[in-house]
Amino acid sequence: MKRYYIETYGCSLSEYDSQVMKHALDSAGYTRVDDPGEADVLIINTCAVRLDTEYRMVDRIKQLRTHGKKLIVAGCLARARPGLVKRVAPEASMLSPQNAHRVLEAVESSGSVVLLTGSRRTDFIPPSPVKDRVATIMIEEGCLNNCSFCISKLARRELKSFQPRLIVEAVSRLVSRGVREIRFTGLDTAAYGRDLPGKPTLADLVSMVLEKVEGDYRIRIGMMTPELAMEILDDLLDAYSDERVYKFFHIPVQSGDDEVLRIMNRRYTVDEFKWIHRRVKARYPESMFATDIIVGHPGEDEQAFNNTVKLVRELEFERVHLAQYSMRPHTRAAAMKQVPDPVKKERSSLLMKVIEEIGLRKHEAYIGRRVKALVTERSFRGWSMTGRLDNYFPIVLPYREDLMGSWAIVDIVDASFFDLRGRLVEAVV
Ligand code: SF4
Repeated sequence: MKRYYIETYGCSLSEYDSQVMKHALDSAGYTRVDDPGEADVLIINTCAVRLDTEYRMVDRIKQLRTHGKKLIVAGCLARARPGLVKRVAPEASMLSPQNAHRVLEAVESSGSVVLLTGSRRTDFIPPSPVKDRVATIMIEEGCLNNCSFCISKLARRELKSFQPRLIVEAVSRLVSRGVREIRFTGLDTAAYGRDLPGKPTLADLVSMVLEKVEGDYRIRIGMMTPELAMEILDDLLDAYSDERVYKFFHIPVQSGDDEVLRIMNRRYTVDEFKWIHRRVKARYPESMFATDIIVGHPGEDEQAFNNTVKLVRELEFERVHLAQYSMRPHTRAAAMKQVPDPVKKERSSLLMKVIEEIGLRKHEAYIGRRVKALVTERSFRGWSMTGRLDNYFPIVLPYREDLMGSWAIVDIVDASFFDLRGRLVEAVV
């Protein structure tokens, strides 16, 4: 048995786990194929974040079963919903995210194996997934909170941070391969290091990487929970002053209403969140402040929803990831009185209009400016490419292969609520 097929769903942590599995299988002499029909073993690395995602995963597992091959269900669904996976595919092996490195045991066993316990191995970092000139490094897994709506907590419970030394080495390897953007990802990057000896913080990690790895690259720091970001904010803002850190802050507020935040079991108030936003904007006025909002969480009445809309209008976030609350099993919010679906839908479309209006206004303010952008990504069909400004605003440019990985001087000629459109003035080598 030498050929495997793998498909991945979910976030960058899930992509990381797939990378761990690919690394283990490739090192053992297996060949990856793109067609499940040609493989000896099929691996589906799943996500469980929402109910509709779960339905999709179940459908896909059923489809993969029809190939009659050895099947491994890995990832968050296997860890958080093993009973469901067992019902859908009784013969499948199951692998939690933390056991991704043990994929060979599942692949080579004669029967099905269930590897759902045990901790994340943090003594090595496999080669990072690289797309175009962008790579992702998982700096930590796990989160110290217990939000009422979150199922990721069930799948990636324990805080495990990678040693700064390993992350420095990984960044150094990527930069020497020509990678220009390195994304530090985790379930809560602000929790980084609290489980390590000496408790290095995220700010310490970033400073260490910047000091030890020379080169013209950019770091993009992933999601931080407000209460932990607050604790390290001064040092973090200092670390951001290096030009190699994108002025991009992803700090989810989830609701603009204190009572809903309390029900969600979030550990900050709206005023505290505003304080963070004020501090960030005072230091980096043009930064991109991205946030996540859930509408229709149990306990959200009309007034609470209006408070969220008010907060969005007041803080004018550059980016908002908006989601309708989705009930997940084994979470506290699942046992609460639910907001009806039509109400969730209506609130979601109302808030989306506000978000788009603000996004468009923010982006349109850039039209007419001449900027410098780092070009790091191709578009889906290869018709255009995307560069990033210092604040991580995306700017779409007509495709030109030689621009990939370069700096470009660009005139901003148009904008949407989501991105900027540019005309190339010159490439900077
Ligand atoms: S951590 Fe969350 S988003 Fe990422 S794969 Fe798991 S359930 Fe999906």
